[in-house]
Amino acid sequence: MKESLCIPGELLEQLRQGSPCFYQNTKRRTLGSAKPLLPVGLEEIQDAEARLRRFAPLLRQLFPETAESQGIIESPLTPIPEMASRLGREGESVAGRLLLKRDDLLPIAGSVKARGGVYEVLRHTEELAVMSARLRTMESYAVLRKEREMFSEHTISVGSTGNLGISIGIMSAALGYRAVVHMSADARQWKKDLLRNHGVTVVEYEGDYTSAVARGRETAKGDPRHYFVDDENSVQLFLGYGVAALRLRRQLQQMNIPVDETHPLLVAIPCGVGGAPGGITFGLRQVFGDHVHCFFVEPTEAPCMLLGMATGLHQNISVQDIGLSGRTIADGLAVGRPSGFVGKIMEPLADGFLTVTDEGLLNYVKCLYESCGILVESSAAAGFALSRVLSEGQWACPHMGNATTVVWATGGGLMPEEIRQELLKSIGH
Ligand SMILES: *Cc1c(COP(=O)(O)O)cnc(C)c1O
Repeated sequence: MKESLCIPGELLEQLRQGSPCFYQNTKRRTLGSAKPLLPVGLEEIQDAEARLRRFAPLLRQLFPETAESQGIIESPLTPIPEMASRLGREGESVAGRLLLKRDDLLPIAGSVKARGGVYEVLRHTEELAVMSARLRTMESYAVLRKEREMFSEHTISVGSTGNLGISIGIMSAALGYRAVVHMSADARQWKKDLLRNHGVTVVEYEGDYTSAVARGRETAKGDPRHYFVDDENSVQLFLGYGVAALRLRRQLQQMNIPVDETHPLLVAIPCGVGGAPGGITFGLRQVFGDHVHCFFVEPTEAPCMLLGMATGLHQNISVQDIGLSGRTIADGLAVGRPSGFVGKIMEPLADGFLTVTDEGLLNYVKCLYESCGILVESSAAAGFALSRVLSEGQWACPHMGNATTVVWATGGGLMPEEIRQELLKSIGH
C-alpha cells in the first residue's frame, strides 16, 4: 500500500509510528473561490437554525434544563487565561486570547452531538408531522408532545461510538419513537447503561465504529418506518453542527471580540468521522470567510480524516490500511475511516489536521482541570494540541498576536460520578 499512496513519505512514517503529526491543507481556498465547489451554503444553515427555533417550545417542555435558554440548545464560550498560562509553562503557547467552547455542557446529550443529532431527529419529526397533517402552520410545535402514539410506530436508529447514540437515542425516545443504537466495541459501558435507562434499545457489536454503522444501515433498509441516521453521509447532521457558527458569531460579538483582517480566529475541534468538526468549519468559513482558520484534531491511532485528506482518498482509505489500530481512550474519536462527503467539502475550507497521543490527551485533561477546575472527557481535550503545532512553528498566519483561539471542548457533561472519579484518578487526583 505504502508505495502507491500519494502522501509525503515522512508524514506517512510519522503516522505509522504513532507520533504526533501535523498536515497543512494545501487545497484551502478563499471563501469566494471555494463557494462554487460546495453542495450547500449559508442559506441551508440559516434554515436549520430557523427549524431549531420552531422546535424550541417543544424542547423546552421535554427538557426542563433548556428552560433558561427558551428551548435553544447552546453552550457558553468561556475565557480560560489560566489554561493559556499553564500551557505556556508546559512549553506550548496559544495564539492570542484563549477561549473554551463548552459543548460538554450542551443540554440533552452533554456533547457536541447534541447539535447535529437533535437537529436530525427534529427535522425528520417535522417531515413526519407535516406529512401526516399533525402540524398546521402557525401552530406551536409544542403540540407534537401529544403525538407519542404516532411516533411510536416509527423507529430511529444510528451507529455510534457512544455520544451520537446518546444524542439520537435520548431525543428520539423523548418524542416517543422506538430508538435503536448500534454500539461499537469501544463504546463505554456507562453510555450503554444511560441509553437503556432512557428506554433505548442498545445493540452491541464486537467490531469497530465503521462496522456498527454498516450493520445499523443494513437493518433499517427497506423499512419506510425506520429512519437511519447515517453518520458517514448525513447532510442533516452536518447542517445541525453548522448552526454552531451562527451562535459563535453572536457570542464573540457580545464579548466585543473582533474577527477581521487583523484579528484572526483560530478554532481547534476534535475529530472522529468528521461530521462535527466539518459542519462547524463549514459554518465558520461561511460566517467569517478567510479570517477564520480551522483545525481538526485526531488521536495518533485513529487519524482517519488526516489520512483521507493527505492522500485525497477520503473514505477509500482507513487507518488500518497503514497499520494503525484505531484504538484510543478517546472513544468519541475512535474512527478508522472518515466521511467521504465531509472530506470532500473540507478540501477548500479547512486549514490543517493534527494528531495527539492518548497520553497527550490525558495531560490536557489534567492541565484544564488543575488550571480551571473544568473536567472534560479525554476526546474533548484534543483541541489543545493545536498549541503544540503553533509553538513548534508548524503553522502561522499574519497578526497571530491579535488572534483569538477557540478550543472546542466537545463532551463530558453526562459522565456519571464514578466515571468522573475514575478520570480524576487517572490524572492523579
Ligand atoms: C463525536 C465526537 C467528536 C467528533 O465528531 P465527529 O462527527 O465524529 O467527527 C468529538 N468529540 C466528542 C466528545 C465526540 O463524541
